[in-house]
Amino acid sequence: MRSKDSTQTYLDYAATTPVDPRVLEEMMPFFSENYGNPSSIHILGQMAESSIDKSRQTMAEMFNCLPEEIIFTSCGSESNNLALRGGALAARKEKKADHILISPVEHDAVSKTALQLTNEFNFELEYLPVNEHGQVLPSTVAKHLREDTAIVSVIFANNEIGSINNIAGIGQICRDAGVVFHTDAVQAAAHLPIDTKALKIDLLSVGAHKLYGPKGIGALYVRKGTSLFPTQTGGGQEFGLRAGTSNVAFIVGQAKAFQLAEEERDARQEKMIAMRDHLIYHVMENIPDVMITGHFSERLPNHASFVFKDVDGNELLMLLDIAGFACSSGSACKTGNPEPSYVLEALGIEKDWSLGSLRITLGQYTSEDDVYKFLEILPKIIVKHRNLRTS
Ligand SMILES: *Cc1c(COP(=O)(O)O)cnc(C)c1O
Repeated sequence: MRSKDSTQTYLDYAATTPVDPRVLEEMMPFFSENYGNPSSIHILGQMAESSIDKSRQTMAEMFNCLPEEIIFTSCGSESNNLALRGGALAARKEKKADHILISPVEHDAVSKTALQLTNEFNFELEYLPVNEHGQVLPSTVAKHLREDTAIVSVIFANNEIGSINNIAGIGQICRDAGVVFHTDAVQAAAHLPIDTKALKIDLLSVGAHKLYGPKGIGALYVRKGTSLFPTQTGGGQEFGLRAGTSNVAFIVGQAKAFQLAEEERDARQEKMIAMRDHLIYHVMENIPDVMITGHFSERLPNHASFVFKDVDGNELLMLLDIAGFACSSGSACKTGNPEPSYVLEALGIEKDWSLGSLRITLGQYTSEDDVYKFLEILPKIIVKHRNLRTS
């Protein structure tokens, strides 16, 4: 599948993905035919409700959990908000716990929620140290847990640098201490199996648009018995945890996207890893003064990220755009301010390197030919750009 501008090669699947036609087909009847409100008593309402039940069942099978442990939300960000704010407020009420532990490489939807809880609601925020790959070790969590820790949140797989955390290890530590553990799996769920029992998690956020589902729908896994304050109050939808008339079409589409991701995981992974490794190898071989960011092997199968010394990441993105390649410099913000990303800062990378970051994320519609073409052009663009800067 090509973007409308067929000269553009899309290599930014961690930012978002196109909707799979099979997902769209599944969603279509729920706009104008089967349009009932699932809360209504009549048959049209009941039909909508049964479709939601079915989607919840599908998600539960994917995550090895109970259907009532799945809460539908409007996006990954909302899931993170509900988990963190809802979890922290409930822990404060139940056990007077005011201490929040997160990693310094979280998505903004986690870190800014934690900051608001700190600045406006008097929680105490502490950042867990990460290693040079941006990973939080379980032993680090054990060291920082306290009696009054309300919630721990550690990202499953990093959107910017691709590193995967040992979530089961961290989960076990938190479970033993009786502290609620949340993980942002929005990026990870597109590629890795999510077994909530094996991973020992209490709260887990996902969203659909990173895995060929529509934008504007997500879910939060809430382990049975985990206390949460609803952050959106109103009707009793989603077991009282998320008010608002259910977005039936998108809920159905999300379930289909997850089902396809599960069925096709091995095939997708195999193709992705081969292309990713080819890309990483050639960039490291053919471009001087380059470093990979994130872990070398414990990384998302579609994810390659680098920093280039003495390169302006934003300018590099523009040059690549002109050459027909859509990439990213980390998180999806396009402000012009030349500050290094906080993720790269947390890794301790010097500024003359971290300002030159580049993220290439592959997807289902990426061909080997796309990668070859990209590898042909990237070294030339970097040489030209560096020459211009020093001339
Ligand atoms: C994209 C993303 C989010 C936000 O999800 P939305 O559905 O876009 O709100 C949160 N966390 C991570 C790791 C992401 O990659």
